[in-house]
Amino acid sequence: MPQPQTAPHLEEIVRALGEKVGREVNVHELEEELGRYLEYGVPPEQARSIILRKHGVTPPKSGPGGSRKTLGELQGSEGFVNLLVRIVHIGTKEITARGEKRTIQTGILGDETRTRPFTSWKTLDVEKGDVIKVTGAYTKEYQGEAQVNFGDRVQVEKVDKDLLPPPPTAATPVERPEGPLRVSELRPGDSGIEVTARILNISAKPVTVQGQPKTVWSGTVGDGTGKIAFNAWHDFGLQEGEVVHVKGAYVKAFRGAAQLTFDERSSLERVAPDTVPTATEIDHQGPVPLSVLYHGAGQADVTVEATLLEVRPGSGLVKRCTNCKRVLRNGMCGEHGKVEGRLDLRIKAILDDGTAAVNAIFSKELTEQMLGKTMAEWEALAKEHMSTDVVEAEAKTRLTARVFRVRGAVLVDEYGPMFLAKEAAVVQRDLTAAAEALLAELEGVA
Ligand SMILES: [Zn+2]
Repeated sequence: MPQPQTAPHLEEIVRALGEKVGREVNVHELEEELGRYLEYGVPPEQARSIILRKHGVTPPKSGPGGSRKTLGELQGSEGFVNLLVRIVHIGTKEITARGEKRTIQTGILGDETRTRPFTSWKTLDVEKGDVIKVTGAYTKEYQGEAQVNFGDRVQVEKVDKDLLPPPPTAATPVERPEGPLRVSELRPGDSGIEVTARILNISAKPVTVQGQPKTVWSGTVGDGTGKIAFNAWHDFGLQEGEVVHVKGAYVKAFRGAAQLTFDERSSLERVAPDTVPTATEIDHQGPVPLSVLYHGAGQADVTVEATLLEVRPGSGLVKRCTNCKRVLRNGMCGEHGKVEGRLDLRIKAILDDGTAAVNAIFSKELTEQMLGKTMAEWEALAKEHMSTDVVEAEAKTRLTARVFRVRGAVLVDEYGPMFLAKEAAVVQRDLTAAAEALLAELEGVA
């Protein structure tokens, strides 16, 4: 007989497996399996998901009776939701309502799907990086986005950090599935790989290899996960727009960027055009999870949506060597010694979308746009204050904990991915303003 505490979970598993029970697996085996997981301390919900996946059934994400919802599933006005989330960012804020001072906490929650801002009316004993199980949160819509609220009834419990897939780091690269790879998963050094992608552009170039004239067909291919440069050392008669399935390709690194390479030893076949998104769709792809950037070797053009978690030291006005563009320290270039240098402006920051965090650099043009001042204006301000910290201070105040949609290129080295931002737009304007608006609404403050 099932133990009282396993019975409801076993019932759920049996219900979800439907006709498979009795054919592929029997109830007794399921009960034993569930029991084993629980004995090892695996939480029942996780055990249920593992067992269902093993039998080829996608676990239901939410259902009646208090199952978990992911942040990606949340709508703008939910009365009672249960979450399993990581604290991506948390801070305290004092606000005044009805003449009374009140301390609230605001920040960012993340799970394997995305991040969302939250406000807690109850003081939480949690810190950045904690994974929490939340029972009875509610949501409100703010500027078109669902915002999570922890009211007086909410229950928050710190749980094992492993219950959420850990954000990948450069030291622990993501394991890849067997079989065909997606473009975002390609890494230099890969060989004998299989990939399906659309030829986005192609041109033939004459080159000399070991004294012999040869032709290489180069361009860009892409799929629903990204784009990559390619070189074909054999005339496959490739045409722009067609979708090809390549077997036996390899990936080389060239100036920090990956190149998909194939030749006469590779096999190539054309496949139905609708196997892969259209060129326009690939060009205007929505944000990819930051964790994807840890799978591959960098991307030429990718969009992410993430919280600017932290403005890093080294942001602001810098001087670069006119010979090699390295940032000068005390007027010295590591390579060229004392040089005059040329002024530059940048923001270094950490972006986090809940699935992972990456280092990012915002160019001079983008920094000017995001902070609303030109480099010349910043230079004048720095002189006036006799400090170049003015930019970093302003960036911290204006950008920290805001959500941006960022487009740019990604380079990957031994320290992990580095996002070089080319475009950025604010998605979520201001958490404090959102919290104050909500409080005003709740307490009837005009
Ligand atoms: Zn130099």
